[in-house]
Amino acid sequence: MSTSYQNIRGTFDILPDAYTDDGGTRIASSAEWRHVEATIRDVMRRHNFEEIRTPILEPTELVARGVGESTDIVQKEMFAFERKDTQYVLRPEITAPVVRSFLQHHLDQRGGVQKLFYIGPCFRAEKPQKGRYRQFHQFGIEILGADEARADAETIAVLMAICEALGLSDLHLRLNTLGTPERREEYIAALQDYLAPYADELSETSRRRLDRNPLRILDTKVEHEQEILRDAPQLIDFVGDESLAHYEEVKGLLADLEIEYEEDPHLVRGLDYYTETTFELESPGLGAQSALAGGGRYDRLAEVLGSDEPVPAIGFAAGMERLFLALDDADAERPAPPEPDVFIAALGDEAERWVFRTSQDLRDAGLHVAHDLMGRSLKAQMKEANRQNAPYAVIIGGNELDAETATVKEMESGEQVDVPFDGLAEHLRERVENP
Ligand code: AMP
Repeated sequence: MSTSYQNIRGTFDILPDAYTDDGGTRIASSAEWRHVEATIRDVMRRHNFEEIRTPILEPTELVARGVGESTDIVQKEMFAFERKDTQYVLRPEITAPVVRSFLQHHLDQRGGVQKLFYIGPCFRAEKPQKGRYRQFHQFGIEILGADEARADAETIAVLMAICEALGLSDLHLRLNTLGTPERREEYIAALQDYLAPYADELSETSRRRLDRNPLRILDTKVEHEQEILRDAPQLIDFVGDESLAHYEEVKGLLADLEIEYEEDPHLVRGLDYYTETTFELESPGLGAQSALAGGGRYDRLAEVLGSDEPVPAIGFAAGMERLFLALDDADAERPAPPEPDVFIAALGDEAERWVFRTSQDLRDAGLHVAHDLMGRSLKAQMKEANRQNAPYAVIIGGNELDAETATVKEMESGEQVDVPFDGLAEHLRERVENP
């Protein structure tokens, strides 16, 4: 079989079996995706987070404001289009949509702090490469309405708990505080002053950033620039006392939870609405795409999106594809593909109809039932039962129909027993539950 169509570059199919894509990346099976998603949901439940699902299509304006006009995402990576005077964008991240939804539906009126989580696809027109896709999947949380340091520490704790539950260790957590946007302005001015004399030595990218978004220069991977930055002013020296106290409290709470971290004064975010705590989680084995998750406080975002009152908020966003890379790297245990409880093989037309009808009854009784849909020989059906790893097969032919008893075969031992039709569901349930 063949087709002239291929999936779009930077996207991928999730299939019943894992496979290796053209670039040599292993794409996990749908069972593995379900396992990771179930683990995430389980940890979210333990931490008392509730799920929120927002549309994949959002107004372009929301993303432009919420993610920030000056960011790469908005400047060059949005899948945006216009239709009948409405501007649509495929969401590139889920924080702005969640805050939009929180404000639109007055979720604060549910009372207390809103602890929300999400899992879903995001879209960015990036250059596709290992661990970097155009359609990828994020999960994350947003804690809305809490300004306490405990909310910051819990955000990090949830992320670490998910990684631990999945069997990931050897992770590297970096932590910093951004303080308030007002103090950050002062710092940015100081950084620009410091870097101005070196402008000629900076890469073209950094020179452009010097005016537009100088904090991003701190991220540079260019060695010479890193050297220049060694004596640059440090953000932490500009952060106010209240912010420092908040930061100290977050660090104390992380220590209580025995969560290890490294303070990184160069970990910054350019946008004005980010405040206080910021962090990033890496899996050092992954090389260029080592960032598993990033997060922090964004106490000013709700106002940017039109709220008349501030909503203190903190959250993280993590990439599912990066998690799978880290799981591969760690050689973590993978769930086996799902297997049927029983394969029912039929011999002859009449038996086929009986099997088709009875399968429904057995499924209603809670069993996971497979049968043939190709009119294959009994031998081929038993081979298929084997291929699907069914622990039991039931064989129905003319004799069984006459005697109203089914032949139940345990596949591994080959042992067979006759079971009356009216007791078949119960017999199979009993054996499946107590193998
Ligand atoms: P960000 O919203 O840019 O902070 O990204 C949060 C996380 O999403 C990152 O740490 C990555 O794990 C993941 N991520 C971001 N962009 C991509 C992409 N294009 N492909 C795969 N994962 C991504």
